[in-house]
Amino acid sequence: MEAIYNFTEKDLKDKLTSNGFPGYTGRQVFEWVYKKRVSNFDSMSNLSKKLKEFLRKSFSITKLKLIKKEKSTDKTEKYLFELEDGMAIEAVLIPEKERSTLCVSTQVGCKFKCLFCVSGQDGFKRNLTASEIIGQYFAVADLKAPLKVTNIVFMGIGEPLDNFDNTIKSINILMNSAGINFSKRRISISTCGLVPEIKELAKLKLGIKLSVSLHSAENDIRDKLMPINKKYPIEELMLATREFSKVSKDLVTFECVLIEGINTSVDDARKLAKLLNRVNGKANLIPYNGSSPEIKAPTQEQLDIFTQELKDRSAFFTLRKSRGQDINAACGQLKVKYLLDQ
Ligand code: SF4
Repeated sequence: MEAIYNFTEKDLKDKLTSNGFPGYTGRQVFEWVYKKRVSNFDSMSNLSKKLKEFLRKSFSITKLKLIKKEKSTDKTEKYLFELEDGMAIEAVLIPEKERSTLCVSTQVGCKFKCLFCVSGQDGFKRNLTASEIIGQYFAVADLKAPLKVTNIVFMGIGEPLDNFDNTIKSINILMNSAGINFSKRRISISTCGLVPEIKELAKLKLGIKLSVSLHSAENDIRDKLMPINKKYPIEELMLATREFSKVSKDLVTFECVLIEGINTSVDDARKLAKLLNRVNGKANLIPYNGSSPEIKAPTQEQLDIFTQELKDRSAFFTLRKSRGQDINAACGQLKVKYLLDQ
């Protein structure tokens, strides 16, 4: 049996027509599953007996099992879900006045070993299926109803572009107007900087947003923070993000966690401003506030000087706080520091 949430509308249509059912049944089943959220094939009242029987034998409608939920003092909520093979993943919901942003995971573990990221430290276990990604959305939407999830960021555990096919499949399912109908402008992918996949993503013209974990505009520093930089240095990364931005007609966001003594000097600010102006991007600055004793956030004075340098150079940036610190919702990346203004 296959998990039906792994199927886009086209996949369903192909599967059904290749088994002798009319093409229009693909749309009918898609609507029952994703729009009406029916979890029992027998309740799909406009389908023939034969089709319901086929669906029962071929597909399962699975739900993720919630094993733990934590709530931060700032109202951020972290959910731990168990997968069918016993592995676990996290999703995080950040409620704000006018929106609620859900951060979903795309892999169990991660290959990329970014310096301050907990997800990378235990290594990579496996990719999530599209069903497991969509399952995080459904599980949180159900738990929080009638509150609506208004934004989705692919920024939880794992590198979304390293699980390219399933990430794209889940986005196509989310955006389909016959189903969930999630707005493309409210979906954002965050990457550590996989250049070929950013170019691939640009070609798909999905209309979604892109953010890149940059952290420094200098290769020497970024090499240390994010080993992927040795494979795809900043110059190559910028060419790819420009390509994306040209196609999407939108600014790419560059995430920069500010760490005293590493990336907070006047020179760092000037280099960052130059980069932002060159690629027509905006920076999302987050002063470090993790728990490592060796790493410190910049002082307010350093922050003021840094941001003034950006202003003086007309660089576009926002300065924000990490959310859900007390429940480690910010583990994963320097990461789950949510792009709340996207
Ligand atoms: S920051 Fe992202 S890409 Fe880097 S190790 Fe963590 S999950 Fe992987």
